[in-house]
Amino acid sequence: MEDSIVKFDKPQQVDLDRCVHCGLCLNACPTYRELGVEMDSPRGRIYQMNQVAAGAPVTPSYIEHIELCLACRACETACPSGVQYGKLVEAARSEIEAVTTRPRGERFLRKFVFEHLLQSPGLLKTAGALLYLYQASGMQKVMRSSGLMQLVGKLGRLESLSPPAEPPFFFSKIGKTFPAEGTQRYRVAFLAGCIANVSFARLNEATVRVLQKNGCEVVVPGEQTCCGALHVHSGLRDEARKLARRNIDAVVNSNFDAVITNAAGCGSTLKEYDELLEHDPAYAAKAKKFAHLMKDVNEFLASIELNTQMGEVPVTVTYQDSCHLAHGQRVRTQPRKLLRAVPGLEFREMPMSDLCCGSAGIYNVIQNEMSMTVLKTKMDFVNGTRAEVIATANPGCMLQLQAGAKMHGKGQRVAHVVEILDEAYRNFK
Ligand code: SF4
Ligand code: SF4
Repeated sequence: MEDSIVKFDKPQQVDLDRCVHCGLCLNACPTYRELGVEMDSPRGRIYQMNQVAAGAPVTPSYIEHIELCLACRACETACPSGVQYGKLVEAARSEIEAVTTRPRGERFLRKFVFEHLLQSPGLLKTAGALLYLYQASGMQKVMRSSGLMQLVGKLGRLESLSPPAEPPFFFSKIGKTFPAEGTQRYRVAFLAGCIANVSFARLNEATVRVLQKNGCEVVVPGEQTCCGALHVHSGLRDEARKLARRNIDAVVNSNFDAVITNAAGCGSTLKEYDELLEHDPAYAAKAKKFAHLMKDVNEFLASIELNTQMGEVPVTVTYQDSCHLAHGQRVRTQPRKLLRAVPGLEFREMPMSDLCCGSAGIYNVIQNEMSMTVLKTKMDFVNGTRAEVIATANPGCMLQLQAGAKMHGKGQRVAHVVEILDEAYRNFK
């Protein structure tokens, strides 16, 4: 189907009208908390969207306030009127994309990243191999210890956020099926992400092992592709639709009990494929079925009878809610339940655990300054718990928190919940 549905990709008046301007969301908003500026609060941004909907032009100032939003959706949780802020900000970005023209260099870079790199295993493997060379050859160490990175300012800060390359990459597992350990109870599909195949290959392997330990036959569908979350967050909804159709075709007719992701940011977009494709007659019903099958790995494991044959993991752990899990998918208790099931682990709740860490997809690259400010606030809360490990549920948050632990932390290790479970299963004697 031709993607001639741009008229839907702007904030709809019926959604904007849900806001009653009460301001109860303000204190939950990281950018408002840092800046104290109404136009950088959820209410202020909705006010500006209303003005544009009424015919005001899309100005640089409007773009700035919309782009400074982390799309963390904390305001959705706080809002008593049921404003779907995530939907609004994604639509606002899509409208900005449609009515403005970016500078040539930026256009080229975005086209390369969104339409080629993220969708191409070949390009991702090449980028991963180059990154590995930079990191393993000692060049990264030299650059960092020489102080050169500090000299180049923002570029240096961005370098500190670069993901690791973890060969062998997970691409070699795509298209394979992994049998359940013991009696098979479920048959699930695992969506492995795009960059995660290079940078979180060990996490993906741990996820498969933990699912196998819990009686799942794990299929890693060969036709899967990038989920499109970064595209949606950047206003590129038509490109995201193309990816959504491919992922739906990869799993929807194969009789799975669930489709699993270990990335909260991907999960909320994958669960919203039905919204993304609601006006596509060929895919609307299939997208609904897909969204219904989609589960975050924490959510899935907490919903089944968990294999408790675990050994001790004697560490103190605090949990950082990934925004797109807590606010986007309302999955909060499940990761905590899983962590508390690990023998020897002491769980320490952190105040404001659902305040964004500043990662927010590629926000930490594009809005690096605000991202680092938000991260500093987060690390103050983390340090207050005196926990040795920061557990979370999203690869992007893991990278950001690792940078936070280096810059402001007390030597904490950062781990995905599933990696801690995997350790517990491996420690079983
Ligand atoms: S999504 Fe997050 S940053 Fe954006 S307005 Fe809502 S609370 Fe603020
Ligand atoms: S978004 Fe919700 S909480 Fe915020 S001002 Fe509007 S109605 Fe109130």
